Amino acid sequence: MKIEVSKIPPEGDRFEGEEPAEILELEGNPLAKPEGPVYYDFQVEKVSHELIVSGTLRVKMAFECSKCADFFSTTMTVSSFLRAYAVPEGTETVDLTEDIREDILVNLATFPLCSPTCKGLCPKCGKNWNEGPCSCKPASGEGSGWSELDKLKLK
Ligand SMILES: [Zn+2]
Ligand SMILES: [Zn+2]
Repeated sequence: MKIEVSKIPPEGDRFEGEEPAEILELEGNPLAKPEGPVYYDFQVEKVSHELIVSGTLRVKMAFECSKCADFFSTTMTVSSFLRAYAVPEGTETVDLTEDIREDILVNLATFPLCSPTCKGLCPKCGKNWNEGPCSCKPASGEGSGWSELDKLKLK
């Protein structure tokens, strides 16, 4: 996304629109796949020889849940986009594409779970516990120590 510096009025301007998901360069990434364009809503101010751009980015993404490995879709919003660009005399355009990409990528890590209550996978059989319990003994993990103790007591 490029901004034409000479077209920014003294009172600033608002830019809304979308960029193709390709700018994120996430092709082939197994953990996060964009499911639509990247929307931007920017307020642009020109202050002497700087262009101040602030606003919000939004993109629909499919993520692999870090607990249950299921893919889930969510709309990711980055509301803290803020950059200052030096625009010395004669600067025609400022390209925001790389910074849009960076802010989205930096925030990817904050969306790892399909749900805050995701139960994850059974470490024994791999069953997705969100779909229901498996037939493994509930005593796996923490409980197993207790069942060993119970056996000892029975002797
Ligand atoms: Zn999950
Ligand atoms: Zn299981």
